[in-house]
Amino acid sequence: MADLRLAPYLDAERDRILSTLCDWVRIPSISSAPEHAADVRRSADFCAGLLTDAGLEHVEVIDGHGAPAVVGDWRHAGPDAPTFVVYGHHDVQPVDPLGLWTAPPFEPEVVDGELRGRGTVDDKGQILFEIEAVRGLLGAEGRLPVNLVFLVEGEEEVGSPSMPSLLAAEAERLRCDAVVVSDTTMLAPDLPSTCVGMRGLVAFDLAVRTASSDLHSGLFGGAVPNPAHLLARLVAGLHDDEGRVTLPGFYDRVRPLTEAEAASLAAVPFDEAAWMRSAGVRRLEGEAGRSTLERIGTRPTAEVTGIGVGYTGEGIKTIVPAGGRAKVTFRLVADQDPDEVAASFRRWVEERVPEGVEVTLTGHGAVAPALTPVGHPGVAALGRAVERVWGRPPLFTREGGSGPEEALGRLLGAPVLFLGVGLPDDRFHAPNERLVLDQLWRGLLAAGELWHELAAVEWRT
Ligand SMILES: [Zn+2]
Repeated sequence: MADLRLAPYLDAERDRILSTLCDWVRIPSISSAPEHAADVRRSADFCAGLLTDAGLEHVEVIDGHGAPAVVGDWRHAGPDAPTFVVYGHHDVQPVDPLGLWTAPPFEPEVVDGELRGRGTVDDKGQILFEIEAVRGLLGAEGRLPVNLVFLVEGEEEVGSPSMPSLLAAEAERLRCDAVVVSDTTMLAPDLPSTCVGMRGLVAFDLAVRTASSDLHSGLFGGAVPNPAHLLARLVAGLHDDEGRVTLPGFYDRVRPLTEAEAASLAAVPFDEAAWMRSAGVRRLEGEAGRSTLERIGTRPTAEVTGIGVGYTGEGIKTIVPAGGRAKVTFRLVADQDPDEVAASFRRWVEERVPEGVEVTLTGHGAVAPALTPVGHPGVAALGRAVERVWGRPPLFTREGGSGPEEALGRLLGAPVLFLGVGLPDDRFHAPNERLVLDQLWRGLLAAGELWHELAAVEWRT
């Protein structure tokens, strides 16, 4: 690794960087807990200090769009050089159940080559390696080959509710050719990978009402509609015998995998039995003809996440219930449109609820799916940076969940690239979160290579 640009910097600065990260992790910036609002603010100020020390300019803690976000930029590469937004977050997940931590979550400790503590990998360590790479490059070379803008938000762990308004307000400052996100994982230390897509989501609360109050089942049963039967019919009808979602046109816009992505997916080593053990399940179900990795990453789904109807307490109650509800969510993949799927579900429900039954369908947010084309030259550039450090090019993975990355890509009109060094067993959001230090250092080295690789790509044709 001696020929890597930041190797000498890393050798000289390793201890300082680690102790900086420990200081940051000691700030319990839990965004979901109002009593930690002052800590989230301290964490933002701490991050602003890091950006300033690294040589970034116009560093600012932004208020007015939810929890404080931090921005800072370096724009001296010239108007012909591309501009990138580096995204991460400085807030962290809550720590309960506290009893399962082997050490206090905000007293970081190095054990066996890993730093343990809340926020080490998600996401303070990952945003720190990006900041330190800039500091190292500016120190060694006096300049960067690209223009950069850091955006470190403070409410990712509560779903980034203010991201659209923040991006709208800061649109001018955040104009870019691509976004680089450091907040994800790779498959294994010896198996680098990069995320190229995330599933979207639409969610509904479906309420049906058949009577003004519960009725005596001996007096009325058999002659009045039963909402439990109706809800059961509805949710059972969401899938056919092959596990496919039955909404008309549901799969029409699903973009098939490219050859490169299919080959990459096939090359991912996947221990299905271990995965089942980790899920605590004894059988797998899903769309016919699709592998588990496809089902959880590249295919859309419908899930009933809850049903409540009638009497479910001790013993028996002889009623026909008057109403009930179900929660239905759809995970979407590119190029499905959340609005289209929502409209299609509404029609589907209307057609199945008989006259005389009151139905209320309430939508709860919509996130579009995100996909970075694996053939994009920026993905290839990122692959070269990763290969130089890890010794092999990254495989492409898709994440089943949804994050602010979709909003970033859509609202900034730019592709999203992922340089994430977390590992699957880093216990994101769980007790004993950790960051493998070797991954941290490799991330820093790769970030040092990345800007030079991205500078060589033709961005504006
Ligand atoms: Zn995160």
